[in-house]
Amino acid sequence: MDTVDCIVVGAGVVGLACARKLAESGLETIILERAGAYGTETSSRNSEVVHAGIYYPTGSLKARLCVTGRAQLYDYAVRKGVPHHRCGKLIVATSAAQDAGLAAIAERAAACGVTDLSLLDRAEAQRMEPALNCTSALLSPSTGIIDSHALMRALLGDAEAAGAVLSLNSEVTGGQIREGLFVLRTRDTQTGEDFTLAARHLVNAAGLWASGVAASLDGLPARHVPQTRFARGSYFAVPGRAAFSRLIYPVPEPGGLGVHLTLDLGGNMRFGPDVEWIDSIDYRTSDARRDHFVTEIRKYWPALPADALAPTYCGIRPKLSGPGEPAADFSIQGPAQHGVAGLINLFGIESPGLTASLAIADEVARGLAR
Ligand SMILES: Cc1cc2nc3c(=O)[nH]c(=O)nc-3n(C[C@H](O)[C@H](O)[C@H](O)COP(=O)(O)OP(=O)(O)OC[C@H]3O[C@@H](n4cnc5c(N)ncnc54)[C@H](O)[C@@H]3O)c2cc1C
Repeated sequence: MDTVDCIVVGAGVVGLACARKLAESGLETIILERAGAYGTETSSRNSEVVHAGIYYPTGSLKARLCVTGRAQLYDYAVRKGVPHHRCGKLIVATSAAQDAGLAAIAERAAACGVTDLSLLDRAEAQRMEPALNCTSALLSPSTGIIDSHALMRALLGDAEAAGAVLSLNSEVTGGQIREGLFVLRTRDTQTGEDFTLAARHLVNAAGLWASGVAASLDGLPARHVPQTRFARGSYFAVPGRAAFSRLIYPVPEPGGLGVHLTLDLGGNMRFGPDVEWIDSIDYRTSDARRDHFVTEIRKYWPALPADALAPTYCGIRPKLSGPGEPAADFSIQGPAQHGVAGLINLFGIESPGLTASLAIADEVARGLAR
């Protein structure tokens, strides 16, 4: 049986960032990825926004790792030539009740170390974005967008340069924790053949499937495996020249950030994601939610042409809380939480997981070193 220092399960942006960090610290690292390519799940089905760290409860992992990770990500993108644009974003209020909400958002952001927000009145906001309808707005200059595929390519390149190996079509189907080793059963998804691989350290970065991977580890008590729920977010595109030059977000709604406008690096507009709770992974999009989108978008962009929206894609958030419950934090579980030396489980890595990926990797490396 082959034994390595470290196995990372999952080659999304978080798994790749972890593999890079661990390989660069001298550990022989293998990344096991079920799909035939890296980054084909949540890491390529998101808004590609570099979040400032505005919305999260003070002291939460999301707050801390977003602010730290954002600075690391911009720095990394500059050093590695990963396309990105610090375009800024406006959070817009469209009623007197929401005006008060903006002040509360700014206060919470400041408590989390995001101190560069400025409150704009309607005229100031409309001078910046003439197509915008609002009663007031918050400007976040440090929000931006990034090419997530180029980021993952760079992370994988670094990891491989430090000796890591990516094994595609390799699905972890279960494992045992014995004598300080993680012995993983793995299936080649092309040939159907099983093989076994062992490691001293295991990082479970399987995203939507992280709970399933953890539950399949014989030796990890079931009480340490939370249920992952799924909340689909769908996007609609509007073809043609972008009507805005910054990202436009409404005041957040329960479970998500509301139907917002993001731009890609080509300057194309896309709206979403909304929040739709689902029981199983299903990436189909439909026209059914168009009316909901039109209603929400017209609150801040009244000139949206009625027939302009076309469904594009969706992503699914791995959630640790259910509908109507307060949003849960990231869960990074190491030996201090579950008592198993050498194991880190990453649960509920929804937004801002892309922004925080480098900071999550640092946290994982610290957890394994303890
Ligand atoms: C709609 C939406 C919008 C978002 N927008 C943003 C945003 O704008 N900014 C931001 O910072 N964050 C955003 N996020 C969050 C961000 O996309 C995620 O936090 C991040 O991509 C998670 O990466 P990951 O590597 O943990 O998971 P994934 O990308 O899902 O990777 C997990 C990998 O594990 C593999 N895998 C699963 N099971 C197994 C197994 N048994 N064996 C082997 N491999 C396995 C999968 O194939 C997959 O490749 C958004 C998320 C969603 C859903």
